[in-house]
Amino acid sequence: MKTQDYIEREKKYLAYNYHPLPVVLNRAEGCWVWDVDGNKYLDFLSAYSAMSAGHLNARIQKALIKQLGILGVPSRAFYTDKLGEFAERLCALTGMEKMLPMNTGAEAVETAIKAARRWGYRHKNIPKDQAKILVSSGNFHGRTTTIVGFSSDEEYKAGFGPFDGGFEIVPYGDLKALERAMTPDVCAYITEPVQGEAGIVMPPKGWLKKVQEICKKHNVLFILDEIQSGLGRTGKDFAFQHEIGAPDGLILGKALGGGVYPVSAFLSSAEIMDVFEPGSHGSTFGGNPIACAIGLEALDILKDEKLTERSAELGEYIKDELRKINSPYVREVRGAGLWIGVDIDPAQISAREICEQLQGKGILCKETHETIVRFAPPLTITKDEIDWALERVRSVLSV
Ligand SMILES: *Cc1c(COP(=O)(O)O)cnc(C)c1O
Repeated sequence: MKTQDYIEREKKYLAYNYHPLPVVLNRAEGCWVWDVDGNKYLDFLSAYSAMSAGHLNARIQKALIKQLGILGVPSRAFYTDKLGEFAERLCALTGMEKMLPMNTGAEAVETAIKAARRWGYRHKNIPKDQAKILVSSGNFHGRTTTIVGFSSDEEYKAGFGPFDGGFEIVPYGDLKALERAMTPDVCAYITEPVQGEAGIVMPPKGWLKKVQEICKKHNVLFILDEIQSGLGRTGKDFAFQHEIGAPDGLILGKALGGGVYPVSAFLSSAEIMDVFEPGSHGSTFGGNPIACAIGLEALDILKDEKLTERSAELGEYIKDELRKINSPYVREVRGAGLWIGVDIDPAQISAREICEQLQGKGILCKETHETIVRFAPPLTITKDEIDWALERVRSVLSV
């Protein structure tokens, strides 16, 4: 079969809810992927940050295969030897007291919403069914109906209502608006520390710290979605560590699964997590031994291979080099660590067109919205590989 045949077959049998670049992959290793014609590409997206440890990471592979030969998915009806260890390690790394394991990011966000509301009723005496959660404009927290219901992006929600409410959108990065939105019925503010899908949107410096103060003052939980920003991506283990000790609640996913398996978690203080009792929440696959074995290995790799430090160092380098390019297309280069948004002037060219041109040069990345090209390579990438990419990016961005 040819490239076009694979594409036609997907188009025939699949929902058209993605618009992939016209490349059909069938193999990968490290930071590189291959298409069915044998062309080789540098992966500059790493599965939206899920693949931070690199494709087919040998340690992840080994951990997965080992656990597959021991115990698979017994469900949470029983204890296992792996889940407690995973929870303990994740709590130690994040500074949280307890965790609740799920699979996809959206499920972990749903878990945070449930925890926040119950906490509001039980610890803040919010009247029944009145709890309100504040969220940010431009937010992306997943695709369930509850979550898209509080999106500010019509594309994510059009035709999927009715939505139940209970959420209020405040402008991202606007402290005054956040302060104004704090009414007695607010139980939590859930936000991304840096907005990934919105286009690597950075809040003003000092914002997180101030948000934490405002939340504290109003007895409102401060919950961060670090599904994409966490585990080294921004040059700290977690993006919040650029400014604060720890939030009240933390949501993780993506890279926690080592690029091969969906592993997510909600973490918080014991006071918050203890709103759950048996029967109130759960997941058949959440926290299974395979997920735990992979998650533990992903955390080990983060530390042993100094992924966070690499991200900080190489991120600065690549941003500096990108800013040196004299390009008629680029309005701004921004980001933290190996998580970079190149803002493209739509009057000149579309971000999609840039991605297609980069594909032609052997680099795979993806636009987010119409005007931003996101660079988020595996955190295992070498400086030589980045230099290889920069040469090609330069040739596409300059005229
Ligand atoms: C990807 C992402 C999610 C959703 O994760 P899924 O695993 O796709 O459900 C939620 N929040 C953020 C910030 C994300 O980047």
